[in-house]
Amino acid sequence: SQRVKVKQILLDENTNYDVVVKGWIRSFRNNQFIALNDGSTNNNLQIVLEPDSITPDILKRLTTGAAISVKGAVIPSLGKGQRVEVKAAELEILGDCDPEKYPLQLKNRPSLEYLREIAHLRFRTNTFGAIFRVRHALAFAVHKFFNERGFVYLHTPIITASDAEGAGEMFHVTTLDIKNPPLGENGEIDYKEDFFGKATNLTVSGQLEGELGAMAFGDIYTFGPTFRAENSNTARHLAEFWMIEPEMAFYDLEDNMNLAEAFIKSVIGYVLENNREDLEFLAQRLEEEDKQKPQQERSELGLIPKLEFVLNNEFERLTYTEAIDILKNSKPNKTKKFNYIIEEWGADLQSEHERFLVEKHFRKPVILTDYPKAIKAFYMKQNEDGKTVRAMDILFPGIGEIVGGSQREENYDKLVTRMEEMHLPVNEMSWYLDTRRFGACPHAGFGLGFERLVLFVTGMGNIRDVIPFPRTPKSAEF
Ligand code: ATP
Ligand code: MG
Ligand code: MG
Ligand code: MG
Repeated sequence: SQRVKVKQILLDENTNYDVVVKGWIRSFRNNQFIALNDGSTNNNLQIVLEPDSITPDILKRLTTGAAISVKGAVIPSLGKGQRVEVKAAELEILGDCDPEKYPLQLKNRPSLEYLREIAHLRFRTNTFGAIFRVRHALAFAVHKFFNERGFVYLHTPIITASDAEGAGEMFHVTTLDIKNPPLGENGEIDYKEDFFGKATNLTVSGQLEGELGAMAFGDIYTFGPTFRAENSNTARHLAEFWMIEPEMAFYDLEDNMNLAEAFIKSVIGYVLENNREDLEFLAQRLEEEDKQKPQQERSELGLIPKLEFVLNNEFERLTYTEAIDILKNSKPNKTKKFNYIIEEWGADLQSEHERFLVEKHFRKPVILTDYPKAIKAFYMKQNEDGKTVRAMDILFPGIGEIVGGSQREENYDKLVTRMEEMHLPVNEMSWYLDTRRFGACPHAGFGLGFERLVLFVTGMGNIRDVIPFPRTPKSAEF
């Protein structure tokens, strides 16, 4: 029979109707009250058993974690803490759960570190229930935003043969016997015998293919997994992460910044409106966590005011050169968090610099533009000064870089010259260069790391806790 979700029952104004509910037992007390959770909400549904109606054998099997099906009437609850409860008429145990072995038996809230060790079961906790429902809603809001603006969702390939962008960070894809690969005349691996007849790898970004789409549909976005074999064991990097990459024809850098800012505000606005309950749970969790920390490490705003602040304030916009001046002129603050070294013009900003600008100096999201061309990718549009490119990075409090984007160089000759300077394989990239040969136009786009967005919105501190199945160096559990 059709089951009704717990969330729906708890929201329904009506009472005195029959339902079937199915879920997992969170707790069972006094041989009478089951707290049932089915993943639709963190709020449990109270199931009340008629005393004496249950056999001792069934009573013994009503343990935390067991899967059950209940048929009964939704009635007003006399107990405090819930408006309604279900008076069980029929109860069936669908799957037993051995209380001796079940790792989520713990009375106290298990630590995030412990839950990372049992990542295959952590979805059943309130914390991860809330995180992954919010993640789902954000993904939905991403598609909603672009769909409403007429963007085409273009699926770019996971396996690619282009290696222009990911130098040194790519996972190779091969069907060759890696212990005994065929070798060419000079002793290097001969990829002619490989599956695709050439070396291939997992994509680090869908942008280059996305540009082909933008040159036909005008506005496209891709939203899929990307892979980087960077050996960065940080709380902000994954080896497999999801990236949202819109690419727009007839856009300049300013249009690009405007879209990125509107996009971030729109998806945050969506969850504030639609995921209040889960956000409030996460906010409270964070507040409790904060109480354990020394004063200066506590968050200044609660989670929801922090999200509302982003929604209601314009992002600060300045150039890389202006940012370097600020960093040079700021007295180094020698707390552990901001122990930055003041850099000279030309260096890439480290995350301490980014966080200083966002968290100490401007105290709001920042868009930095016009970076030195030497530290940015080959496809970015070159400025008249010959030194900088029309790049933008968006920096967020507590996160650092959340978006990297640019206006693209649409001039064929300038692009090829830049590729040659950077020793990129111009011949192998002729498919890409066709975008500059046949009806080139100004265009721009950006990449937003989806997990960094989820980190910000959930207030979590480690990127491993906002992706269902984290992939990091020396760890691939499933
Ligand atoms: P970072 O400086 O943090 O290493 P990046 O400049 O190398 O990032 P880009 O190539 O600009 O990253 O990618 C676009 C966006 O993808 C970044 O702004 C970030 O949000 C996200 N991102 C990049 N690398 C990772 C990663 N390893 N794990 C999760 N998200 C990432
Ligand atoms: Mg990086
Ligand atoms: Mg970066
Ligand atoms: Mg970047």
